[in-house]
Amino acid sequence: MLMNILILTLAGILASSPIAQRPTPVKLYVFDCGTLKSGNPDVLLARGVTTTDMSVTAYLIVHPRGTLLWDTGVIPDELVQPGGTTEARATVHKTLRSQLAEIGYKPTDITYLALSHNHYDHSANSNSFAGSTWLVQKAERAAMFPDTPLANPSAAVARFSALKNSKTMLLEGDHDVFGDGSVVIVATPGHTPGHQSLLVNLAKTGPIVLSGDLYHYPAERTLKDFTPFAALGNAEKEVSSKAKVEALLREKKATLWIQHDIIAYSQLKKSPSYYD
Ligand SMILES: [Zn+2]
Repeated sequence: MLMNILILTLAGILASSPIAQRPTPVKLYVFDCGTLKSGNPDVLLARGVTTTDMSVTAYLIVHPRGTLLWDTGVIPDELVQPGGTTEARATVHKTLRSQLAEIGYKPTDITYLALSHNHYDHSANSNSFAGSTWLVQKAERAAMFPDTPLANPSAAVARFSALKNSKTMLLEGDHDVFGDGSVVIVATPGHTPGHQSLLVNLAKTGPIVLSGDLYHYPAERTLKDFTPFAALGNAEKEVSSKAKVEALLREKKATLWIQHDIIAYSQLKKSPSYYD
């Protein structure tokens, strides 16, 4: 009897030990939010970037404790025509809402919204997710909603304006979204004051890091002096954020998905398929 209890106790300890724990079953869906022409292709072509067009993406992470939408596209769904819509350098064929619906989600089903950053090509449908809890770096929110509103706000501002009144979790650094290490926001300031990247630990696929705009093209990783977008933000912070992510990639043996890398993106499974 005593032996039975001991064995049961031991079994209990083993079951709760990290070795016996199964990884959290997280799913990652990739959405097609269109393409973006480069505003300054000559600079890129001069450094050997042969394909200067960029992919525009959003991602849904489904965790047992909720969902996280990462980025919201470049053209608002209500402007997207069935045959495709072009606005300035962006072209979109599929709405974000229809891609969510295809896998059974409505905007009101999304627990958390996080933007890699506030630029127009990452935030166009944000108002549709104002009912989610918004995970944003304090510095990014301050840039998006300054105490004194800008005299000439960019078109992007109206497309995320509803987030001002969202239930908001203000971050000052990294943040473990579901509390189990499976989905972690990684603070990577530089491109914007509160730019962030996302680490997703997938049981079968392995760890993935979604770049945001830490990089736009793979060449920026190999050519250390090639920083075509540094002037947009704080170049010094961007350099240290890149070093932080490169160290994280090595430590976790993670794969970096450069969100705007249209060649790598073309190889990815798109929703309704998913990575787990
Ligand atoms: Zn971008």
